[in-house]
Amino acid sequence: MNPQFETMKVSIFEEMSLAAARHGALNLGQGFPDFGWPDPLLDEAARLVREGSNQYPPSRGLPVLREALTAFYADRQGLTLTPEQFVVTSGATEAIAAVLLAALEPGDGAIVIAPAYDAYAPLIRRAGGHVQEVVLRPPTWQVDRASLEAVITPATRLLVVNNPHNPTGRLLDARELQLLADVAREHDLLILSDEVWEEVLAPGVRFTSLASIAPERTIKVGSAGKIFSLTGWKVGWAAGPAELASVIARAHQYLTFATPPHLQAAVAFGLGHGEWLDGPRHGFARARQRLAEGLERAGYALLPSEGTYFQCVDLRASGIGLDDRAFATLAVEQAGIAVIPLSPFTEGEPERGLVRLCFAKRDETIDGAIAAMATAR
Ligand code: GLN
Repeated sequence: MNPQFETMKVSIFEEMSLAAARHGALNLGQGFPDFGWPDPLLDEAARLVREGSNQYPPSRGLPVLREALTAFYADRQGLTLTPEQFVVTSGATEAIAAVLLAALEPGDGAIVIAPAYDAYAPLIRRAGGHVQEVVLRPPTWQVDRASLEAVITPATRLLVVNNPHNPTGRLLDARELQLLADVAREHDLLILSDEVWEEVLAPGVRFTSLASIAPERTIKVGSAGKIFSLTGWKVGWAAGPAELASVIARAHQYLTFATPPHLQAAVAFGLGHGEWLDGPRHGFARARQRLAEGLERAGYALLPSEGTYFQCVDLRASGIGLDDRAFATLAVEQAGIAVIPLSPFTEGEPERGLVRLCFAKRDETIDGAIAAMATAR
């Protein structure tokens, strides 16, 4: 078997979810909500299945979904995309895989800004590329020109950006977005902009897509699972310049070929009802505050979170001497709560004193998590 996979670790999300199940622990590790989906989408998907939406759809995605995405992004982000610029995929992770396979040739370099979502590096290597890691540091997690330019070589072909940023919960500011666009232009890099958290924002925070700043070179990745709190549906997409989208579509056709048509059509239906996102947005804002206040009462020091449904805890500043993995093991085995350690998100020299909790949970789950965290220290 291929040693690249034989030696690969199990994803930290899977590892912690399995540990949570094994120990009967609350799971605030892997990011998935336990409320917030619009019920009409469930009814619509069920109706579509019963009425025969069960055979292969077009590989690039149902036209109705690509049209709905075009309208949704024009309305919410002022983007001037067309339906031809979208490729629908089976989740954003497949979109990331398709983009990297389509964009990279053997020997190409791809910049990853760490801590980084754990799929990027293995997929870059699978595509024959090598990872050029830029490591950000807390508490600001700011990107600067010098650290980007320090890793760029003549082989660098692509820059992976994740905004809002998982696992830190940071939003890139206007100056950083412009810097990334400028550096990409100066070195003629493609930008893979993973924007799956674009609709999961703290109150008062505004999101800007890199696709509005560098549309000629940005491939934007999005996720219905994140927008509608239906992570198991695995409906995602990539959108970019039409000639790049066609190449991404070629890569996608030999990954999953297509994505279940009833789910695509139900997502299209939901995208036409932006008002269905208001309730969950308020619910997540309340949950964000409830978890943060509870953790602070329990003596934990928190890092700022402006986007995503994640809250990071600084163990050292909380007076805890354990490293992140040791704390996560103790928390799931003895305190009954699964969290995600941040060190697996950096390949070079990671921070070892931070853990991430998902707050997209009902009040009783949050309260149970706060009580469990209080016993973990
Ligand atoms: N994006 C999710 C998270 O950060 C996990 C996705 C997955 O497990 N594949 O928790």
